[in-house]
Amino acid sequence: MSASSESRTGADVAVIGGGITALVAARRLVESGRSVCVLEASASLGGQIRTVDFAGHAVDVGAEALHVAGPHVERLIDELGLRDDLVVANPGFAWIWTQRGLRRMPAGMGPAGPTRLGPVVGSRVLSPGGIARAALEPMVPRGPGGADVGVGEFLARRFGPQVSERLVDPVLGSLHAGEIDRLSLRAATPHVATQAERHRSLLLAHRHRRGAAAPSFVSFAGGLKRLVDSLVASTGAEIRTSSPVAALCYDSGRVELEMVDGARNLFDAVVVATPARVAAELLGQWCPVAAAELGGLRAASVATAVVSYPRGRVAATAAMSANGLLVPSGARRFLKAATFLTSKWPHLEDPDRFLVRLSAGRIGIDELADLDDDSVISKMQKDLAEMCGLDAEPLGWHLERWPTTLARLEVGHLERLARARAAIGDAPILLAGAAIDGLGIASCVASADRVATAVEAAVEVARRSEELRT
Ligand SMILES: Cc1cc2nc3c(=O)[nH]c(=O)nc-3n(C[C@H](O)[C@H](O)[C@H](O)COP(=O)(O)OP(=O)(O)OC[C@H]3O[C@@H](n4cnc5c(N)ncnc54)[C@H](O)[C@@H]3O)c2cc1C
Repeated sequence: MSASSESRTGADVAVIGGGITALVAARRLVESGRSVCVLEASASLGGQIRTVDFAGHAVDVGAEALHVAGPHVERLIDELGLRDDLVVANPGFAWIWTQRGLRRMPAGMGPAGPTRLGPVVGSRVLSPGGIARAALEPMVPRGPGGADVGVGEFLARRFGPQVSERLVDPVLGSLHAGEIDRLSLRAATPHVATQAERHRSLLLAHRHRRGAAAPSFVSFAGGLKRLVDSLVASTGAEIRTSSPVAALCYDSGRVELEMVDGARNLFDAVVVATPARVAAELLGQWCPVAAAELGGLRAASVATAVVSYPRGRVAATAAMSANGLLVPSGARRFLKAATFLTSKWPHLEDPDRFLVRLSAGRIGIDELADLDDDSVISKMQKDLAEMCGLDAEPLGWHLERWPTTLARLEVGHLERLARARAAIGDAPILLAGAAIDGLGIASCVASADRVATAVEAAVEVARRSEELRT
């Protein structure tokens, strides 16, 4: 690429991608006085946030719930004036599928394992030996020091394998679409890593935190699209859809973007907020080392279906009065999770229909790609019917596929990123988003805030290096 072409956007910072990370980063950069251009490949914005009209309701087929935890999301909701429009998920519980049928997810279960032993004992998910082993957690020596380990391995060491496989895997393995042994403790569950560093015992650490407000899961009456629409309406950036970026390079103090249509634009800095494999492609020519590191980050292919059933038939199925169902990876079932939308969300209440969201797909299992839509729906439904005793045919369904989309932050993630960033060096090209800082809208908002703050410093470093060079 030649770095001599004129910028045609008039912006001095480009943000590649149009998902939540890109939109929040653009907003923050505009606030800091930058003129910003957002370049999104597809015709629509929101990325993995996608709301569709289904059975007369606005239903999310990508991200389904916003986890209100931490200052970044709280701040954004207030800035966008969305607090009064939040819909909070109905209180309820989820089932876990076990070899002996459905068992209630014990209260106090989190990504760091149980926070209380009483509910775990009562849940009948663990054997008596498993419960006894979990109770020994406060006696297990502190670990793992600074080293990164798999979340599954770490929790199995602390609480025993049954807690890891039967209680934590259904939650985290479903969220991260795959077994939890390879998930990075430090990158995928940084709060657990921090607690492990600060406290000898995770169970005892939770005792000290009792009384802290439980994080809530929220949405909007119009679905999570409302968040995307509010950002787009107020960001102040130039936003271009159907604008795929093909490559980027850095030369003589400016970053040049080459668009798929051949147009070239120059910027002071560029934020890359795309899936990792796309970031790898964009950097491939200019920085093969960074591209190789980013290309090694894995992502799972998943599919979500929303299905409507006659309300009366579901009412006879006691299991579906819960908020959902989680399936451990060890169960080797096609269905990964089900959310009983009509039970969970006040805004999806319907007198005639009961809406269910079903999901499938785990890392390393390529089954989805070989199945047509009818087969995917039928396999999901078969599992749901067997697990919950549901005896009803759907009134309608919508299937959404997410090929190689769900980022996996595996052991060694932070070291891999450090190597990619070192290879990018002084160039003001910054990486952000789920594949970099962790999946989930809340992580992406925090990632966007971080990267927007880092842009000014990166531009300054690039300017000084350029001065020294010339
Ligand atoms: C099925 C599913 C369920 C989920 N459920 C939840 C949930 O309930 N709660 C939660 O918090 N999170 C959930 N997540 C995760 C969450 O949605 C994501 O972590 C988050 O939305 C990712 O945002 P992002 O901006 O990093 O990336 P993305 O949303 O992936 O955005 C990246 C954008 O880059 C664009 N792009 C790609 N290539 C190019 C190119 N060459 N040029 C320009 N643009 C390009 C893409 O089109 C896309 O719009 C879910 C995800 C999925 C798939």
